Amino acid sequence: MTTPSLLILAGDGIGPEVMAQVRRIIDWFGDKRDLKFEVSEDLVGGAAYDAHGTPLTDATMARAQEVDAVLLGAVGGPKYDDLDFSVKPERGLLRLRKEMDLYANLRPAQCFDALADFSSLKSDVVAGLDIMIVRELTSGIYFGEPRGIIHEGNERVGINTQRYTESEIARVARSAFELARRRSNKVCSMEKANVMESGVLWRQVVTEIHAAEYPDVELSHMYADAGAMQLCRWPKQFDVIVTDNLFGDMLSDMAAMLTGSLGMLPSASLGAPMANGRPKALYEPVHGSAPDIAGQGKANPIACVLSFAMALRYSFDAGAEADRVEAAVQQVLADGLRTADLIGEEGRAPVSTTEMGDAILAALDESL
Ligand code: NAD
Repeated sequence: MTTPSLLILAGDGIGPEVMAQVRRIIDWFGDKRDLKFEVSEDLVGGAAYDAHGTPLTDATMARAQEVDAVLLGAVGGPKYDDLDFSVKPERGLLRLRKEMDLYANLRPAQCFDALADFSSLKSDVVAGLDIMIVRELTSGIYFGEPRGIIHEGNERVGINTQRYTESEIARVARSAFELARRRSNKVCSMEKANVMESGVLWRQVVTEIHAAEYPDVELSHMYADAGAMQLCRWPKQFDVIVTDNLFGDMLSDMAAMLTGSLGMLPSASLGAPMANGRPKALYEPVHGSAPDIAGQGKANPIACVLSFAMALRYSFDAGAEADRVEAAVQQVLADGLRTADLIGEEGRAPVSTTEMGDAILAALDESL
């Protein structure tokens, strides 16, 4: 078997700081679990602009297309605010998502027991929560034509178009059903079929794919507005939620924050299967480059660590090792370790990015 390949793009701001801790964990798997990766590193975002005058070189793009998974830190920062839109750091990330055709965005909302009190909801509502939102990422109202601001009579009109083809719906539905089979075998599809034709088609196609290919998975449908209410009321009723780009944008942010800090949230963006059967994949924390704390050793590396755990599970068929990483994170939090973003009102002393990495590695050692 060939060694699985991983391209690391640490990016800007706290990106390299949190990624340094993930590198240690990757090395740990090579040393202690005989799970070795062929790791290459490259530049993205502002760092790539500084070196090459572009936020992503063609060579890096080509490498991203070849590897089994890309792991990205974060891009952006005030230094690049005045750059032309075409070379802004975020364009590097957008190019990766577009050219790799990453149509399924996976955003877990998982509540670690020790942080249940950190949520804005009652702790019994969120304790033990583990749901996954699958958001369609490359179509829908953010991309549909016509779009723009036009003049009509004596006023301006803003236009965006919600447009979904059958195949775009079918492929993201398949991603959700496949995921559900590895979890609790339950999918809830959300749209607004009561007021939108694209929602009617969405519901039809999801139902057809389910009947033809995934009858073993439990499927339900919900209007997206009712889904938002249910997510706040009793989120544990869900396992996998699949929804379009716009609703998914909002519902995934909302669900994620049920569980606490931005520094804890991983994500995956998956595309079509490659020749080896693995999906095209990019894993990244939800947070940005946090220029306000960059270079100070304050960043929480857990979102990036959990993104690597997602890579283990979804790209490398190493679900048990992903569980091991998540359990190590659970352990350090239960032991009371907190980076500054998780301190809240408790007033205890925060640990640094490296100290959090040390503790996760120690917990991994203990798991052996
Ligand atoms: P941000 O996520 O960088 O930061 C928001 C707040 O959360 C800040 O106070 C920050 O200190 C805190 N925070 C974020 N991650 C943290 C972590 N791991 N540990 C501790 N605290 C953390 O969002 P922003 O301030 O709106 O954006 C900053 C830059 O990042 C901008 O240039 C923006 O364009 C870029 N950005 C990039 C991505 C990405 O790379 N995917 C995503 C969002 C924003």
